[in-house]
Amino acid sequence: MQYITILGATGSIGVSTLDVLARHPEQYSVYALSAHTRVAELAAQCLQFRPQRAVVATADAALELTRLLRGQGVDTQVEYGEAALCAIASAPQVTGVMAAIVGAAGLAPTLAAARAGKKVLLANKEALVMSGQLFIDAVHDNGAVLLPIDSEHNAIFQCMPHAHGRAPGAAGVAKIVLTASGGPFLTRDVETLDKVTPDQACKHPTWAMGRKISVDSATMMNKGLEVIEAHWLFGAPAEQIEVLIHPQSVIHSMVSYIDGSVLAQLGNPDMRTPIAHALAYPQRIASGVAQLDLAQVATLQFERPDFRRFPCLALAFDALRAGGTAPALLNAANEVAVQAFLDEQIGFRQIDRVIAHVIETVPHGAASSIEAVMEQDRLARAAAHAYIAQRLAA
Ligand code: NDP
Ligand code: MG
Repeated sequence: MQYITILGATGSIGVSTLDVLARHPEQYSVYALSAHTRVAELAAQCLQFRPQRAVVATADAALELTRLLRGQGVDTQVEYGEAALCAIASAPQVTGVMAAIVGAAGLAPTLAAARAGKKVLLANKEALVMSGQLFIDAVHDNGAVLLPIDSEHNAIFQCMPHAHGRAPGAAGVAKIVLTASGGPFLTRDVETLDKVTPDQACKHPTWAMGRKISVDSATMMNKGLEVIEAHWLFGAPAEQIEVLIHPQSVIHSMVSYIDGSVLAQLGNPDMRTPIAHALAYPQRIASGVAQLDLAQVATLQFERPDFRRFPCLALAFDALRAGGTAPALLNAANEVAVQAFLDEQIGFRQIDRVIAHVIETVPHGAASSIEAVMEQDRLARAAAHAYIAQRLAA
């Protein structure tokens, strides 16, 4: 029996993970679940999966969850706060941790899971983008196993399983090709992009996801973060990572080898496939996803990304090349800008301007410790908020 903690159980990835786990009750038991604000949804999950522990953000939310659970006769232990998140990620009974909190808030518990030597199923790409080598070192130093959930990285992992943790050059890899749908604004007139609403930006053509990553897909910052994620997961330099637009989202990514071979992983765009893959690795389990019907898909298209349409992608490549804490600055500025866009404080085309401003004005340094990274995260957020406030006042 494997005992699984899901950090961010009420989100898109969390719900998909529970869907897969529910299909295999003889193999997996839910040890703990966490949510931030959606307490009623978490209560319903606890009723169905009967975890030993559940974690929410505040004391009030914990009281509310306890009231809901006791009313249903569920005796799950309720806790709150970041220390409790770290505790459910590192408890001795836990075998696997699904890291599916969105944004920098997921760094501490995800790192706690790595330091406790767990099998870490990584959806929370922001945590790895921020902490980079520090996170990879925590994995290696503590005998943790890091398995990518992000569909592109899971695809790459499947196309070069033996290169896990080694430089791709060693495995004869010439290039990693990250595919991208291009999001909802791939063909929209660039001049009209400042008029788009949060709901339009969140209407992804092929994937159903949380709102933050949906906006990231529309700006292609999501692909930028994924380039940095691929760098750390597979040890590939920026020059060996290529982005290719593929609107159908059927090929989830590819690896080109020096002999001319290109390996790709294909599937319907449904996150239950990479989730099931990582949960069962190196075995395979059913995920509930329908078999891919290529005759039905009929056409697969590809094109190179236009960096002028998607300046966030260029900013991410620049941050990766700059190194140190530059990716942490990029990530923090992006989180603030995306939230301001979702709150209708700034327009869509201002997202990249906020990020560029933060990167230009906050000096980056060496990513020498998690504390140094968190300090840069704090400085970047302050600079982004100040810039947005100034624009609003103008
Ligand atoms: P959602 O917004 O749907 O879910 C986020 C989860 O994190 C929720 O459970 C939420 O709780 C919780 N949460 C939010 N803020 C905090 C916080 N400050 N502290 C603790 N918990 C918090 O996001 P997704 O599931 O879409 O994405 C999760 C992660 O997975 C992201 O890093 C994303 O980039 C990555 N990912 C997602 C994919 C997808 O298909 N959705 C694909 C590839 C990667 P509550 O519900 O209570 O607010
Ligand atoms: Mg992805």
